[in-house]
Amino acid sequence: MIEKSIVFGRTVSGENTVALQEPDISARHAKITFLGNDQFEVEDLGSTNGTYVNGYRVQKTTVNINDQVRLSSGTILDLVKIFGLKPSQTPNQELSKNNPKDFTVEFARLKPIYENYKRDRKKMILQHNQKTALIRTGITVLPLPVLFFFPGKPIYSALSLMGAGVANFVTGNMYNTDKLEELDEKFRLQYVCPNRECSMQLGTSNSWNLHFETGKCFRCGAIYNANKL
Ligand SMILES: [Zn+2]
Repeated sequence: MIEKSIVFGRTVSGENTVALQEPDISARHAKITFLGNDQFEVEDLGSTNGTYVNGYRVQKTTVNINDQVRLSSGTILDLVKIFGLKPSQTPNQELSKNNPKDFTVEFARLKPIYENYKRDRKKMILQHNQKTALIRTGITVLPLPVLFFFPGKPIYSALSLMGAGVANFVTGNMYNTDKLEELDEKFRLQYVCPNRECSMQLGTSNSWNLHFETGKCFRCGAIYNANKL
């Protein structure tokens, strides 16, 4: 029987399904829900020392079975064990019959994550540039009608200079940093070494292909491409 939702905390209260008696664990620390298909929802319950996924502090996020979930500084949760998942439901054990270091299949799952991230980010920046170009043109040509009523170059020059200033100000403040940051953060959490004990970030500048060509994780030695080695 697989538990659906587990609350972790320091004290043994009715609600805490699992009590972790560590001084840096809050009374009610985090709640984790099994969503099926190797997915879990991790939610911090306003803990003092935080809940971390692959080293990043999170409030509420969806994680994969290969992600590292940590409470405070030192409590790493073994979700497979805690939720009583059968070996067949854990890809690590299922796929590494011959070599426990072989993460070829898990690593392949990161390819669409990398490609979608690059595509979405490019699209977001392109949209921003198109939008600001439009606004820029609009604001800069705004003084034109003034020229019609008050013919005279000096007034127009002064006004277009002002218009350009306003355009700079408006478009400079328009960048949707929240959305971009959200995208970056989600990517940082997902694009990590599939070996749960490592979970090293694979970096935004290193393409999936580069790691695939290298063949393995330089930190933990997890094999990314069994054909290569
Ligand atoms: Zn690694």
